[in-house]
Amino acid sequence: MSTFESRRLLDEAERILKRAVELLGYGDDVYEALRTPERVIQVKIPVRMDDGTVRYFIGWRSQHNSALGPYKGGIRYHPAVTMEEVIALSMMMTWKNALAGLPYGGGKGGVRVDPHKLSPRELEQLSRGYIRAIAKYIGPDLDIPAPDVYTNPQIMAWMMDEYYRVTGMHHYGVITGKPVELGGLQTREIATGFGVAVVAREIAKRMWGGIEGRTVAVQGYGNAGYYAAKFLHEMGAVVVAVSDSKGGIYSSKGLNPDEVKRVKARTGSVIHYEGAERRITNEELLELDVDVLVPAAIENVITEHNAPRIKAKLIVEAANGPTTAEADRMLAERGVVVVPDILANAGGVVTSHIEWVNNRMGGWITEEEARRRLEETMARNAAKVWDFWHKEFDTQKHPMRDAAYALAVKRVVDAMKLRGLL
Ligand code: NAD
Repeated sequence: MSTFESRRLLDEAERILKRAVELLGYGDDVYEALRTPERVIQVKIPVRMDDGTVRYFIGWRSQHNSALGPYKGGIRYHPAVTMEEVIALSMMMTWKNALAGLPYGGGKGGVRVDPHKLSPRELEQLSRGYIRAIAKYIGPDLDIPAPDVYTNPQIMAWMMDEYYRVTGMHHYGVITGKPVELGGLQTREIATGFGVAVVAREIAKRMWGGIEGRTVAVQGYGNAGYYAAKFLHEMGAVVVAVSDSKGGIYSSKGLNPDEVKRVKARTGSVIHYEGAERRITNEELLELDVDVLVPAAIENVITEHNAPRIKAKLIVEAANGPTTAEADRMLAERGVVVVPDILANAGGVVTSHIEWVNNRMGGWITEEEARRRLEETMARNAAKVWDFWHKEFDTQKHPMRDAAYALAVKRVVDAMKLRGLL
């Protein structure tokens, strides 16, 4: 992210906080107490490269707020990551974890590197070096990292092993998103998409009495989009359209998500699926006459330009930031329900919590139990936000996002007050 973009992200995070503070009727003292992180660590990591030279990489860990518990949030590897970006994302994690009802604060890490340009050995050295540098500030009861952009279970395994080397203790709960062989959960793969489907089902129940027979369009057919489509189909919804970066397909009778997935795996795109009635563009997909729209690809696809043409009555944000603030407001006025990303795509961090609890119990939970708990938590959170929105807000003036952030900030503020921090 450029310096300009990350400054904008931080401004946006501050704007979201300010709005929630105002909606809750709190004073400036609350805004000031939450605007900045509790701690930001910058580290410089030396890595002996394969050619014998030593290169230095810069990384950060931002610990935004710990009123509810240990900091929690991913670590991203990206050539353009900045400190401002990491700080903004750590603040967003505070709200996401609070809204999900987890006993966690918010944190985020980043290392400025293009991981695709490193050999596996160099990548391992970098990951171990980063953890050595921040080891004093993390731990299963202090700060619990996880994967994010361009980091994965293998990197989490190296990091956990390095933490063991530094502390001399097998703390499996120091990091989540680990390989299954090292205390990770099978359910991680489905977590985000399954969570999105559960939230869609719960909101659909409240809007229409159920999701069964409702038509759905899903933009993006990666991890989040495919599993959202698969589980919505299993729940009885009719997935009439899906897309990826090459374009989309439509079938009024409904598509079979697994068959489409097999074609994408074989040919590289959903557009080669022959059972569809016609091909559509990504722009058309967003404006289809469906009941439910699931943007699961990239940010800012629903804007003030296409919002007036959107026909779905329920939009469930699997992607991060697919709807602009202006579009969100316009859709609320028209009675379109937009379930915000902070609620809808929290399945990953909810699963991280289940993994962490399981690690601390010495490996106890079955796959079935992990999935049941994820479902229960997502359903409970959807109900909580829906009820708060309807009780406290004029739903045509305020998108559901306002209620979600207000609820999250309230939970953190309540914890700070009880601790004597406000
Ligand atoms: P992914 O890389 O697995 O899949 C992305 C999909 O979007 C691919 O099918 C790709 O072809 C498609 N795509 C890319 N550009 C597109 C475009 N312009 N138009 C239409 N389709 C396009 O990624 P993912 O993990 O599924 O993540 C998707 C979104 O969900 C991102 O915004 C991500 O931040 C968010 N998210 C994912 C998770 C998760 O655990 N997977 C968790 C939280 C949020």
